[in-house]
Amino acid sequence: MTEAKSHYEVIVIGAGVAGIYQIKRLVDLGIDATVLDSATDLGGTWYWNRYPGCRFDSESYTYGFSFSRELLDEWHWKERFSAQPENLRYLNYVADKFDLRKHMQFNCKVEAMRFDEARDLWRVKVSDGRELTCRFVVLAIGLLSAPTLPRVEGIEDFRGRSFHTYYWPREPVDLAGKKVAVIGTGATAIQLIGEIADKVGELTVFQRRPNWSAPLNNSPISDAEMADIRAHYDEIFATCARTPGGFVHEPDPRGFYDVPREERLKLWDKLYDEPGFGIWLSNFREIFMDEAANAELSEYIADRIRRRVKDPKVAEKLIPKDHGFGVQRLPLETKYFEAYNRDNVQLVDVSETPLVRVTEKGLRTTEHDYEFDIIVYATGFDAITGAYDQIDIRGIGGERLADKWKRGPSTFLGMLVHGFPNLLMPTGPQSASASTNFPRGIENGVNWCMDLLQYMWDRGYTRADATSEAQERWAAHVAKMYEMMLLRKAQGWFTGYNSNVAGHEAGTIRYIVYNGGTPKFVSIINDVAARDYQEIAFTPGSAARAPAAAARASASS
Ligand code: NAP
Repeated sequence: MTEAKSHYEVIVIGAGVAGIYQIKRLVDLGIDATVLDSATDLGGTWYWNRYPGCRFDSESYTYGFSFSRELLDEWHWKERFSAQPENLRYLNYVADKFDLRKHMQFNCKVEAMRFDEARDLWRVKVSDGRELTCRFVVLAIGLLSAPTLPRVEGIEDFRGRSFHTYYWPREPVDLAGKKVAVIGTGATAIQLIGEIADKVGELTVFQRRPNWSAPLNNSPISDAEMADIRAHYDEIFATCARTPGGFVHEPDPRGFYDVPREERLKLWDKLYDEPGFGIWLSNFREIFMDEAANAELSEYIADRIRRRVKDPKVAEKLIPKDHGFGVQRLPLETKYFEAYNRDNVQLVDVSETPLVRVTEKGLRTTEHDYEFDIIVYATGFDAITGAYDQIDIRGIGGERLADKWKRGPSTFLGMLVHGFPNLLMPTGPQSASASTNFPRGIENGVNWCMDLLQYMWDRGYTRADATSEAQERWAAHVAKMYEMMLLRKAQGWFTGYNSNVAGHEAGTIRYIVYNGGTPKFVSIINDVAARDYQEIAFTPGSAARAPAAAARASASS
């Protein structure tokens, strides 16, 4: 739907999990708001990522929205870790149940946004040629929504089919008997490879650096189990709220060195066989900060890999040597390591024989020409800031956000940027939403943004801009959290590394996520609100009227 209307109180960009909750909150208040999305339909990450094996690594019942008891009572999660088709169905169900679709406009890519300082408005340029205006923009554009291809020649030359996992085709891809290449061994590739190894003719995996991975241990959820989950939703969400990652897995309260090694090993045996992130997040806290503790756990996991992969040389290649287990976000797998025991699966180490180019028939490394029917780029994302960089966002004095963030983002609480007034990012860079169980973080971020908006509407303020001092303090705090973690030594998207994006190579950390954990983050942002947002400069509007009412009036006009 494309509307003739050109002004809104709030424009939300992105119709994914965050955009859906954001518009629900705005609609409930009667605010004149719309959602713009470049896709043909809603769903965000679950609309795009359709590759085989794509599914939650959060327990499904911790991933759903918590805001409606009716919704919680109605929806039956079929699997502990639900797959993409079902997740997309869920988001559609939510949108339809609350009649949100009529507030969404699709095929609307936002190309540019400029803050009109004279009128305290954003001017939003859409790909269909329209310029819309609004008082506030909410960027709900996702964390991993700017996919990146390798910086290698010849991608266009390949005569077979090729795609990035993010753009996996909507119609089924016939893999039977096909020679398939997968480039990359991150979380996406790990899910994909485990799923397709027994469905393709031949599978060749091009790995540059291995990732740690542990079993997902997925299973169906019966009616009886679902009834039990429903009865315990309050406790489930309360647990998520008190754990650092926003998951149901609580850290072991004991000190690593207070527990005898034998007992540690027994605990790890148990956690490895349990569903989900237990082996990572129900472990001792020291594994994230203490080199020796982490090394012991890493060796344990390495042994588990050795037991699962028949060829010892292949097993060693699949064991990371450049970072320890769990220091960055852990991919979870199903039959991933066993895939390499199959005769039709081959591992090519491109750290030894680098990719030289894509050819008409396949891939060339320094050693060999490979021929394929399908090449899959599981090569990751320009994480978090990439999607922001793709919009030409200009704030006070015409400053470009992409320029400001060239060497890494700086924000206030991950939700505001000094010099870019009235621009809200419920899951922005340097927020905890970016580093935790995403929907739990989204609800925290959206709720905080809504409180801020309500505060302004109640007072007739038309402009909110975080102070540069507050932003500097937040950036310093975010950097300090990195310093405490072994994560700082890993090259992955949490440290802003992506070899395919200029300026994002190894060497400097981009402080893009908040690593202090959910409870600390929520307590900080709530404190800012409780102290009347002292870190934000507000401007009273000339036409100060109760904006919720004003918005309602404008909606009905
Ligand atoms: P990723 O973790 O960044 O992995 C990208 C992979 O591609 C890496 O193995 C990388 O190797 C490789 N690569 C990139 N460029 C290459 C090149 N030019 N030549 C050779 N190899 C290249 O991306 P991802 O796997 O898409 O995962 C990103 C994030 O998405 C995850 O951390 C997670 O947060 C999220 N995710 C979640 C789930 C879930 O279960 N819910 C599933 C999938 C993804 P290097 O490491 O050597 O650069």
